[in-house]
Amino acid sequence: MTGVLKYNAIVYVQFRREKVENQYFVAVIGAGPAGLFGARELANNGVRVALFNRDIKAGGLAEYGIYLEKHTMKEGLRKQFRQALDMANVDYYGNVSIGAGGDFSLDEIRALGFDAVLVSAGAQGTKSLGLPGETLEGVYHAKDVVYHYNKLPPFSQRKFHFGKRAAIIGAGNVMVDIARYLIHYQGVEEVTAVVRRGPAEVNFTKEEMKHLISYLDMAEFEKELARVRPALDAVGQSPELGRQKILEAQAKADPKTQNAKFQFAFLASPTGMMGENGQVTQLEVEDNILTERDGKTSAKGTGAKRTLAVDTVIFAIGDQVDANFGLATEWGEFAKDKEPKFPVENTSYESTTEGIFVGGWSRKASEGLVGYARRDGTNAAKAVLQYLQANPPANTNADTVAAKMKTLQKPVVHKDDIKRLEAAEAEEAKKHSIEGFKFASNEEMLQAMGFLETA
Ligand SMILES: Cc1cc2nc3c(=O)[nH]c(=O)nc-3n(C[C@H](O)[C@H](O)[C@H](O)COP(=O)(O)OP(=O)(O)OC[C@H]3O[C@@H](n4cnc5c(N)ncnc54)[C@H](O)[C@@H]3O)c2cc1C
Repeated sequence: MTGVLKYNAIVYVQFRREKVENQYFVAVIGAGPAGLFGARELANNGVRVALFNRDIKAGGLAEYGIYLEKHTMKEGLRKQFRQALDMANVDYYGNVSIGAGGDFSLDEIRALGFDAVLVSAGAQGTKSLGLPGETLEGVYHAKDVVYHYNKLPPFSQRKFHFGKRAAIIGAGNVMVDIARYLIHYQGVEEVTAVVRRGPAEVNFTKEEMKHLISYLDMAEFEKELARVRPALDAVGQSPELGRQKILEAQAKADPKTQNAKFQFAFLASPTGMMGENGQVTQLEVEDNILTERDGKTSAKGTGAKRTLAVDTVIFAIGDQVDANFGLATEWGEFAKDKEPKFPVENTSYESTTEGIFVGGWSRKASEGLVGYARRDGTNAAKAVLQYLQANPPANTNADTVAAKMKTLQKPVVHKDDIKRLEAAEAEEAKKHSIEGFKFASNEEMLQAMGFLETA
């Protein structure tokens, strides 16, 4: 342990022991897993927390990203989230968006006099490759699609055109989730995963792939492996390893229930989309070879291009933070202080603005699962606790914050409102004998909570 780290660990332990009840007041922006577990860590240490959330409901991508059929997992997480929200020293302000173009700017929040701000707003920016044809109908970004099928307004209300032949750019779990959704819920007959590198470097897990693998067209798969074999051989990558890695999921495969097929296009990068009458009809890809340097392979375009006939193209290539949030960004992420004064586990949770910390996907965009976000949000809170210990409490209180929220010309949702919403949704689920029910618009949610008259 370095000197600084050791010192910080001691300070943190002291802080936990002293538990200075409600002297410090911290704003946490974003109530996804990182923000909720961060808020819980702060509140457990006697800090008062104002938790601002863009969405009415808490949970972030755990509520609106995780695959729609994972009811048990989602309910388990909701239980933990409720515990954080129920803490007496956590105030929840839902339906409140922070940042340029939001309900309050980051500066307005800071001006309320918080002792520190923890930004855990996820990665809400879209990574765009800037390719021709990106605005054609039928070309989408993964986050919008998963928000849509998980019923997050306004994406839940947006029309998406899913045809019969889809290409998904990417080779991770999000690609698998979307392929599964297109086949099972949208009647898509052919899904091609367009993968920049080879089969050995796919990023999905067998636990996710088992839901899709029975749709893999084995004849096409073998043909594709044979096609890319010379490029893999050139960098010593075994096609057999790739085959094994992908087919591992067959051991526990879900049965095939739809007349559809799934296939891979390896060593291919998208270069543009072409369309007719504003609708995408073709995806152009460039073939890649692999190069190796210091044990790391990278894909390099060969200049050879081909087209795939498709009517849907979805980019599942990860996200970046919202560049208009109000914090400096660097490589699609909020810039971090490279010489942090309060590191935790050798990691900087400090933004380049003093007193503002970042955690979860706001610190590292599109990184890891809920468990990762939980740990990262908690660690970010630990960094905040060290910072508070080094500074006297400022002078704000819950009433000042609540009064500021009342200036908004729209309903601000509190934790008791959420309880009413959850009860109303549970009632609907019971009525329709389904496992989970969600209102798909803010209006319906606000009505269920009693903010708006029922039509
Ligand atoms: C498609 C998909 C499927 C996934 N499936 C799984 C899975 O099966 N299992 C698993 O463990 N993990 C899964 N994950 C990963 C998991 O969802 C993330 O690791 C985790 O949700 C990240 O947490 P976070 O709190 O950092 O960000 P998020 O979950 O994105 O939460 C961000 C929160 O900030 C709020 N917010 C955003 N902008 C603002 C703003 N300007 N002002 C105020 N509030 C704001 C949002 O409303 C949201 O509540 C999946 C992710 C995706 C994308």
